Parts: sequence; structure tokens; C-alpha cells
Amino acid sequence: MHTCSHAVIGCMDFRIQNTMTKLLEHLNVQEGTFDRVTFAGGAANMEQLKIHLGLSKKLHDSCMAVLSVHEDCGAGAVKEDLFKAADTARSLGFEPKLFFIKLDGTWEEVKEA
Ligand SMILES: [Zn+2]
Repeated sequence: MHTCSHAVIGCMDFRIQNTMTKLLEHLNVQEGTFDRVTFAGGAANMEQLKIHLGLSKKLHDSCMAVLSVHEDCGAGAVKEDLFKAADTARSLGFEPKLFFIKLDGTWEEVKEA
């Protein structure tokens, strides 16, 4: 079995892709060691989130989930959606980390209460 450590979930929006790459570098998640999945809404898109985290776990035995949504998302995702996403990730066997991506190229790590 070929395995990887992380599943990375983000929105498809072109405006955040460079920031996502910078975030992964900051987290020391190395290129070539993670499943990267992008779709509209990112971690707020529950249906896609479940499908892709499930596949990442099943196919690659990943255990860390980097979950993100972003500012001004056309799919309507908001920061608070990350909490439900975290519950979903845990239910699928992941340890989640939550990030709100901003359009100015920065991000905020979102902590659960
Ligand atoms: Zn978006």
C-alpha cells in the first residue's frame, strides 16, 4: 500500500491557491506527501468532504486533515463551517487542523472551543 500523511482540503478558487501552498510550507507538509483536493466551498462542502476524506483514508491511510475555507467564497463557505468539517474529519479517523484563508495572502488557524 502506498500511503501519505495528510489530506488537504481547499476551495477551487484560483485566488487562494498560492496561499494554500505557502500554508503547507509553513506547516512543513512536504510536496509529494499529501492528497490535495480542491472543490467549490472547500471544507464547507460536506458532501465532497466526506467523499474525498474517505477515499484518502481508504487508499492512502492518511491521518492528518488540513481543512480550509476562505474569505469571500463564491460557494458561500464561512469560517464557522470549519467546526462541522472537523467533526466529520474526526468521524472518518483524521486529526483535523482548521484554517481560514484570506485574500491578502495570509491565513488564520481556527481553534475549536
Ligand atoms: Zn471558494
